[in-house]
Amino acid sequence: MKKILTDCDGVLLDWENAFHDWMVQRGYNKVVQGTYDLSVAYDLHHEHKHDVVTEFNNSSRMGWLHPFRDAAEIVPLFAERGYQFEVITSMSLDPYSGKLRQYNLDDVFGSDAFCGLTCLDTGADKHAALEPYRDTGLYWIEDKWQNAVLGADMGLKSIIIDHPHKREMYDSRITRVENWKQIYNIIAENE
Ligand SMILES: [Mg+2]
Repeated sequence: MKKILTDCDGVLLDWENAFHDWMVQRGYNKVVQGTYDLSVAYDLHHEHKHDVVTEFNNSSRMGWLHPFRDAAEIVPLFAERGYQFEVITSMSLDPYSGKLRQYNLDDVFGSDAFCGLTCLDTGADKHAALEPYRDTGLYWIEDKWQNAVLGADMGLKSIIIDHPHKREMYDSRITRVENWKQIYNIIAENE
């Protein structure tokens, strides 16, 4: 099996809309659209933002996030080409939250799609998790610009899923895509 490294939220699963629904249920409103910074989007103090994200990521909601864009149709196709995904996610260190995430991924994409799941602390840096893959030239799929740059710095082939709030960012080492169909085509063409 060939391995592809990937982030989860905003790549495989639609964290943002589930979080928004959960916030609305608690009386919060989105005051700024199109920003990655949730403290700006929901007008929260930085500490409070971390608290609500941690609470959400440790909630039972984590077992039932919906697939991101076309992920449900395309991700299972990779197994037919001999690929499996190693998921590296800064969701939570709570082992039961991790079990819910694994359940969610297996439920949406099928357990054959995955060869590993590494759960880091909420919002944590991914440097140490990527270190074993330094200079392997594996694909690394992210939606967070800093993590895509980190992957490129570590000798990975970074692909970034396009979100409106990072259109002005540019790095010649990072391939920008809109969906999983494009990721599939890039990887198939470069085999
Ligand atoms: Mg993400």
